[in-house]
Amino acid sequence: MQFTDFSLDQRLLQTLKHMGIDTPTEIQEQAIPIALAGKDLMASSKTGSGKTLAFLLPAMQRMISCKALSKRDPRAVILLPTRELATQVYSQLRLLVANTQFKATKILGGENFNDQAKALARDPHFVVATPGRLADHLKQHHLHLNGLELLIFDEADRMLDLGFAEQLKQINGAADHKRRQTLMFSATLDHGDVDEIAAELLKTPEHVAIGAGNLEHKDITQRIFLCDHLDHKEALLSRILKDEQQKQIIIFTATRQDTDRLAKKLADDGFKTASLSGELKQNARNQIMDEFSRGLQQILVTTDVASRGLDLLNVSLVINFDMPKFAEEYVHRIGRTGRAGAKGDAVSLVGPKDWVNFTQVQTFLNKQFAFSELEGLKGKFTGLKPKAKNNKKAKPAAAKKKAATAKKKSAAKATANRDRRFATGVDVGDAPMLRKPKAKLQDTPED
Ligand code: ADP
Ligand code: MG
Repeated sequence: MQFTDFSLDQRLLQTLKHMGIDTPTEIQEQAIPIALAGKDLMASSKTGSGKTLAFLLPAMQRMISCKALSKRDPRAVILLPTRELATQVYSQLRLLVANTQFKATKILGGENFNDQAKALARDPHFVVATPGRLADHLKQHHLHLNGLELLIFDEADRMLDLGFAEQLKQINGAADHKRRQTLMFSATLDHGDVDEIAAELLKTPEHVAIGAGNLEHKDITQRIFLCDHLDHKEALLSRILKDEQQKQIIIFTATRQDTDRLAKKLADDGFKTASLSGELKQNARNQIMDEFSRGLQQILVTTDVASRGLDLLNVSLVINFDMPKFAEEYVHRIGRTGRAGAKGDAVSLVGPKDWVNFTQVQTFLNKQFAFSELEGLKGKFTGLKPKAKNNKKAKPAAAKKKAATAKKKSAAKATANRDRRFATGVDVGDAPMLRKPKAKLQDTPED
């Protein structure tokens, strides 16, 4: 199949040709016809498989072939969880609109509000936005969505994690008319929170899932190292970096403090290193991403602010210095490599503090990882035992119980001591958390 097989405008086909793209990926093959037919859609496929064009192309085609419902209101709004991701989608959109009469603008948190109000007053056809800031402009009546034809949620599940459900509903409510089409994309759409909000935002959507979110990504080699404590993690990291001198690398840490500390250490060790976290000013964030994507820095140390969507084609190694709190974030983090058919490596360092999160990743992926070792750097930690369940029916005899309790207490004490030793000097993640209580953020929420 070729892109020419879809009923797409010649100008779009031309742009694709310029981009060197001719054969649709599987998700594009399946999602584009549904979206072109005007249906609502929930679509998921692995990281790096071309989801952006799977929604941008039908959105462009709809603008080209249908008459606008309103002259002034945006015709399509694309919402994304982070500013970097919005910027990246916006630049792909810019390539597509360049060849047409359509105007696009991006509305992100951290940028000048008045400038954005002015841009909105110029009646753009496309608005690419982070949800918080767009909701603010709606409140100020800087835009109206009565004429909105297409509402697109990319990385929808992440926007929910970040606590944006209210804003999504507000934006949805402002564009509540029968002719609106809604598309939802992510590599991981298969959990309850998403279904709940999808039921509210989408009308009898079609579903396309190319492989489950937890399906193994064949282009990414995954290795796990067990670590005793922070020094051990750093020793492993140094060795790995020594062996991987040619590669461009993203390192994920649990908190921004860790990000800054580790980036400084690596820079001191002579690596060209940048650190990106949510509290930086937006122009600093832009500059860091720009330099990293141009290869001016070898290593980017960051938090989950960069786990989603970013398409950095030269990244061939992702390191989880700390494990992510949500299992699906693991899939997105390692998905910063192995994109568009390229091969990639992922390494995770798992210490006592990471153990619960690590086991959740194993459960999510339905996979038992084997552990890797590096010569001379094997530690003592071999994992934590699952907490014993309270089994009321099978009560052991009193003496047996007493002995068991004592044993448990001493094991718990040993673990606590080990955890405390491990945690000294650095906050390696917060208490492990399951999805349901809203995420306590490891980094600043986007607005
Ligand atoms: P996803 O959103 O699924 O993670 P992206 O949309 O960011 O993936 O695309 C990943 C990379 O693949 C981008 O560099 C994009 O330009 C490229 N790409 C997209 N579609 C195709 C295609 N049909 N053929 C070749 N490369 C493609
Ligand atoms: Mg994407």
